[in-house]
Amino acid sequence: MAVTSMIYDDNNIFAKILRGEIPCRKVYEDDHTLAFEDIHPQAPVHTLVIPKGKYVTMADFTAKASDAEIAALMRAVTKVAELKGVVTTGFRILANSLGDSMQEVPHLHIHVFGGKPLGAMLSVPRP
Ligand code: 5GP
Repeated sequence: MAVTSMIYDDNNIFAKILRGEIPCRKVYEDDHTLAFEDIHPQAPVHTLVIPKGKYVTMADFTAKASDAEIAALMRAVTKVAELKGVVTTGFRILANSLGDSMQEVPHLHIHVFGGKPLGAMLSVPRP
């Protein structure tokens, strides 16, 4: 079911990963961010980059996070692209936010896709 609320749920799956309660395949970590492999990859490279703070969406994050947290998340995305070897071949980032985007996990995450031609930007028909 898609996420509809900006109220942070401490029991969401990424909160559990951050607390070390469930494992992940870590790609990168710093003081403010964690990046790990998506459990159901949709491309040869499919890594998730998340802030360690409790933010539901990008709007929530940019409203409440410190400049240091925001800079760290953006830099972590590039770091992941470098680590996964897709900076020169090309990659796509995506962050779903609430219902229309079909966001499933209510902790802000940036998908990093790459490793093959990724096709059209959206797979659904235009309205
Ligand atoms: P969303 O639809 O919210 O933008 O994307 C959520 C992503 O989280 C999906 O791509 C899904 O495969 C991934 N995911 C869901 N549960 C887990 C999990 O337990 N571990 C990892 N590594 N990824 C997960």
